[in-house]
Amino acid sequence: MEEKIRQLTQACSEEISAAGSENALYAVRVKYLGKNGLISDLMKGMKDLTPQQRPVMGKLVNDARSALETEFTEKGNQLHEAELAQKLAAEKIDITINKGRSVGKLHPLNAVRKRLVDFFVSMGFEVMDGPEVETDYYNFEALNVPKDHPARDMQDTFFLGGNLLLRSQTSASQVRYMEDHKPPLKMISPGRVFRNDDDATHSPVFHQLEGLVVDKGITMCDLKGILDSFAKHFFGSDTKVRFRPSYFPFTEPSVEVDVSCSMCHGKGCKICKGTGWIEILGAGIVNRKVLKICGIDPDEYTGFAFGFGIDRIANIIHSIPHIKLLYENDIRFLEQF
Ligand SMILES: [Zn+2]
Repeated sequence: MEEKIRQLTQACSEEISAAGSENALYAVRVKYLGKNGLISDLMKGMKDLTPQQRPVMGKLVNDARSALETEFTEKGNQLHEAELAQKLAAEKIDITINKGRSVGKLHPLNAVRKRLVDFFVSMGFEVMDGPEVETDYYNFEALNVPKDHPARDMQDTFFLGGNLLLRSQTSASQVRYMEDHKPPLKMISPGRVFRNDDDATHSPVFHQLEGLVVDKGITMCDLKGILDSFAKHFFGSDTKVRFRPSYFPFTEPSVEVDVSCSMCHGKGCKICKGTGWIEILGAGIVNRKVLKICGIDPDEYTGFAFGFGIDRIANIIHSIPHIKLLYENDIRFLEQF
């Protein structure tokens, strides 16, 4: 019987070494150490032994069993490590596989719009979104442009029939805001506007940002202060701002605002067409009639408004020669930003 234990132990050891997987190892374990395994069977033969032999043989069997247990554990750990390593290798993700592919980012128009909004929000302006389909009232009449007013010719509007149109300016939002809020007011309204206009510097759809401040004692100085900070923030700290008299029905007095050319610093170049100045926006003191229409007493309050094309600012910042490039979504163009 001693010999049989030795043979079984050796056979089991060899099978343990040969096991190529955790499953195979488990099968070996069942074969030898299982409830009806070969080693367990030996115990059943104990009853045929003499009382003196029993404890000796019992010890031999138990020693063999515990030695084999140790071998099973060691081999089991080895196989587990190996299988894990193999699995990791097989499921490895090659994170360099898309190397060289460009990453998504904001469209230059959206990036500039975000910078503009961030700037004005940091100055305490509230952001308002207005409807793109407007009524004639909000787009024109409330802004001091009655039906027979020649200023309607300044904007080629898309009329939708009835009283509706595609808004030709974000100024419409001003009126809606003044109807719902009492002064002091400080708001901007960025958004899409539409005009029947189509050339190198005009697109039928473009983006405007409208700003409005109404409070007691607001003057042209406040307007210039805000626009000066704005120009320095966007075009460089040495940028100068120039006001030229102009006309808009909803502001009186009205100004066109130019900034010194950041390319040539006023010397004159292709970007500024040799003048040293770039026109960026229209502004002025809110017309008394507009305040009155919106229910604000023009004897108590004054305000200023300004509006500019976000597309135009993007074009100036990035020296983009043609507004259409912003709308064609040509990847080769967009990748440059
Ligand atoms: Zn220039």
